[in-house]
Amino acid sequence: MARVCVIGAGLGGMASAARLARLGHDVVVVERLEHLGGALGFLERDGYRWDTGPAWTTLPAVIRDLFRKSGRPLDQELELVPVQPLREHRFEDGQAVQLPWGNRSALRAALDEGLGAGRGDQWIGYLDRFAHQWELLRTGYLEHLYSPALVGKDLGRLLATRNTLHRAALRAFKDERLRALATSQATVDGHDPRNVPSWLGVSAYVEQKFGAWTVPGGMGTLATALTARLREREVEVQSGTTVMDVVVEEGRAVGVATAHGVLDADVVVCAVDPRRLPALAGHVRRTMPAIPPVVCHLGLRGEVPDLPHEVVLHGDPLLVVRTGGRAPEGGKAWTVLGRGRLAEDVVTALARRKVDVRDSLEVRVDRSPRELVEAWGGSPYGVLWQGRATLSQRMGTATPIEGLYCAGSHATPGAGVPFVGLGAALVAESVGKA
Ligand SMILES: Cc1cc2nc3c(=O)[nH]c(=O)nc-3n(C[C@H](O)[C@H](O)[C@H](O)COP(=O)(O)OP(=O)(O)OC[C@H]3O[C@@H](n4cnc5c(N)ncnc54)[C@H](O)[C@@H]3O)c2cc1C
Repeated sequence: MARVCVIGAGLGGMASAARLARLGHDVVVVERLEHLGGALGFLERDGYRWDTGPAWTTLPAVIRDLFRKSGRPLDQELELVPVQPLREHRFEDGQAVQLPWGNRSALRAALDEGLGAGRGDQWIGYLDRFAHQWELLRTGYLEHLYSPALVGKDLGRLLATRNTLHRAALRAFKDERLRALATSQATVDGHDPRNVPSWLGVSAYVEQKFGAWTVPGGMGTLATALTARLREREVEVQSGTTVMDVVVEEGRAVGVATAHGVLDADVVVCAVDPRRLPALAGHVRRTMPAIPPVVCHLGLRGEVPDLPHEVVLHGDPLLVVRTGGRAPEGGKAWTVLGRGRLAEDVVTALARRKVDVRDSLEVRVDRSPRELVEAWGGSPYGVLWQGRATLSQRMGTATPIEGLYCAGSHATPGAGVPFVGLGAALVAESVGKA
């Protein structure tokens, strides 16, 4: 049995801790805030409740596997329900399309009807190109420890490609709207598609194949369930405690230095931005964080447009409206994420895009990117893509320091609920059984 110290109790830290405790280790989690979950959680105001971070996830198997491998199956704790349609896209030319998932003919019909005949086949043809890439990535990078020295030829070639998402979309489509469909998720996640490798487009394929899923009442419930799981697994939680650095002796991690003293450990898992820990900062000096969007939580009452759970309003700024918050009777709780040139107020920008809720506004909470980074001690969006080299410049699961592993959005395989979940599984696999 090893004494494991996990730094940070976001999804990455909690998932790693629960898995490692189940493997028989003695685990302590150190979290600077009083509550656990990081970006995964709720904000409540005047009877309204919004998810502060994720509103949905793809690859539901990742969450199911986490619960199964850390104790009882997920369905005994909480429900994961499919979200259909995936989202609605509204374009600057006034056209709109609601994308369903899991049904090719429905997808084809929706695109043909919304964007014009033939667009469905063009989009499906683009997605189909990712089927093989997905298998390569899944087997050699997402579900198994990735090491540049050990990957097979095909995966190595894919990961080393100079082709960018921007260029792939330009080549694949003449229609600007299809190009926007291919690149907008990267933009929403804080990246410039010109700096993102083309294989990241696999996320559109994954959404189509595995769908979008959420938890009734909000994804923040997942943090509550994981907090309970840590308690059951007798994981010690030191909340309200900031880790200042990893203690390294003779090239090996032997503990963490906190504001309250040193905690000895045989194994350390860093599930925070490694740029903030001096022992790791030098190893990731070429990386930059992907900054969160402007976030605006709205409590609405009265005549409110009926929108699907997510609507992307294309253009600059790019606005994403999420409608799944909890509101008092007769109200609606929306969250708006904004990217790009947001020179005007978010609600005014929405009205200009014909989503006018100015007369229905009852409560509003604005959170700037800086405020979010300060709240969580780093960006939950992980590392900014600055070209293909970013893959080797960010932390892998294992680090150059013996006994020190990395999980969370800043480590391989990256940000977002499914990838952070997969990263925690890779940490558990690396550390192994007690
Ligand atoms: C607005 C928003 C919307 C999002 N929407 C989605 C979505 O719909 N779907 C999706 O899949 N993903 C989404 N994401 C991304 C997803 O939330 C993150 O990738 C994921 O939750 C990151 O988890 P994490 O554990 O890496 O980091 P975090 O959630 O950032 O947690 C890090 C934790 O570490 C703590 N910490 C930091 N420094 C220290 C220290 N020195 N000592 C001790 N503790 C420390 C922090 O307080 C925090 O609790 C969204 C994110 C945001 C912000």
